[in-house]
Amino acid sequence: MKINVEAGDITQHDARAIIVNLFQGVTSPGGATGAVDAALEGGISALISEGEIKGRAGEAPLVHTLGRMPSPRVIVAGLGKQDAFNLNVIRNLMGTALRRARMAGAKTVATIVHGAGIAGLETADCAQAIAEGALMGEYRFRKYKSNDDPSFAEIETLTIVEADKRKIRAIERGVERGRTMAGAANHTRDMANEPGNELPPTELANRAKRLSAQAGIDCEVLDGAQMKKLGMGALLGVGIGSSRQPRFVIMRYRGDKRTKKTLGLVGKGITFDSGGISIKPAAGMEAMKGDMSGAAAIIGTMWAIGKLKPRINVTGIVPTAENMPSGSAQRPGDVVRAMNGKSIEVINTDAEGRLILADAICYARQEKLSPIVDVATLTGAMMIALGNRATGFFATDDTLAEQLTGAGERSGELMWRFPLIDEYREDLKSTIADIKNTGVRGGGAISAAKFLHFFAEDTPWAHIDMAGTDESNKDKGLWVKGSTGIPTRTLINFVLGRAPRR
Ligand code: MN
Ligand code: ZN
Repeated sequence: MKINVEAGDITQHDARAIIVNLFQGVTSPGGATGAVDAALEGGISALISEGEIKGRAGEAPLVHTLGRMPSPRVIVAGLGKQDAFNLNVIRNLMGTALRRARMAGAKTVATIVHGAGIAGLETADCAQAIAEGALMGEYRFRKYKSNDDPSFAEIETLTIVEADKRKIRAIERGVERGRTMAGAANHTRDMANEPGNELPPTELANRAKRLSAQAGIDCEVLDGAQMKKLGMGALLGVGIGSSRQPRFVIMRYRGDKRTKKTLGLVGKGITFDSGGISIKPAAGMEAMKGDMSGAAAIIGTMWAIGKLKPRINVTGIVPTAENMPSGSAQRPGDVVRAMNGKSIEVINTDAEGRLILADAICYARQEKLSPIVDVATLTGAMMIALGNRATGFFATDDTLAEQLTGAGERSGELMWRFPLIDEYREDLKSTIADIKNTGVRGGGAISAAKFLHFFAEDTPWAHIDMAGTDESNKDKGLWVKGSTGIPTRTLINFVLGRAPRR
């Protein structure tokens, strides 16, 4: 979908659908919506008094203009309550409205700039939210579909129409940034939606290479022999049951030549998690193709960083393996050694994410990356704790925690901090090794974090457990069924927030 910006009058636009808006509780609309209402001889206000158009957030009723306007359709997108209005309402509104337009067969859509001037929102930020919500909301993963319903044609262009010529530059700037943010999230989704047979560790590494090249980022891929040399026994143990070899991806972006200080981002890349010998039940196992969503988010983030070029150094690290049972697979009770020399007793082969992350965190420490932020679909316990509304995370200091929470808020991806209490480390005491990979069932998200903390040692570090939020089970606002792309935009905003302004 192309996005254009134009100066003009939306009521005169001939797109196959135009999008205006309405706050909840407004009975006689003003602005562009008022102008459309006038062109339709009071049609919109009549539907408001009928109770058919309510202005509620998440609603996008479609009205036919029947020759009274150049465009055949008007979508009156709900802005919700005035006091709850923010950029995320705009993102969601655009997602919902575009899917509604697409369902009606509209190949061209025009919209006003929702939100500019309301609640102190900047024009550029509103335009960014429009592009972001539009591109994320109309996303579909159709690679393996053949006989698609012809009525579900793609939207070819979205035109943002603004009456005030002086605002055009700011709108264009916002659209450009929204395109990068949504592009990154959609790259993440493309990888996470890909089935396990099509995306083994080698292919995930290829995607990282391709996207890095596109964004001008240096990308290095280590194979099994190189990992063995580095002593990555924990990662190699996880991949040993699969016929498809693990890989270790390092993406380096240098945006600040004045310093060696480099931020480290690490993502869990289990391309399929069967559980290994501690095999998972069959029901729902297909969702485990998404166990590389953390890795995908890191790759998507690095792509955006390469495009946006902030003044900061960032290294993205992706340990990737397939967790399969076989005659060569790792057994419960096995002891492996991580890159820092520490031994790990593998109690449950399904707690494999923390094993590959252990080596990745050791590598990040050896590279002197600080702080280190890892991202993983790590524990079922986190899914139970927070469900699919918010993403849980842990951090060794308050500043890092605040930066992540703030970046999440700016992205419309809610982040909630969990405690890193030392007592939970006791659950991981092994009789024969330095640590074991699972403890007790209760507080499982926290003991998993404490396992990783053992390898992060004294490096400032945060761990994002996105097990409940990597996937959406329905189309809603900017989310569509399948991968959410979380927390790609949060990470981008986090990096941008740490970079000094140019
Ligand atoms: Mn697992
Ligand atoms: Zn896993």
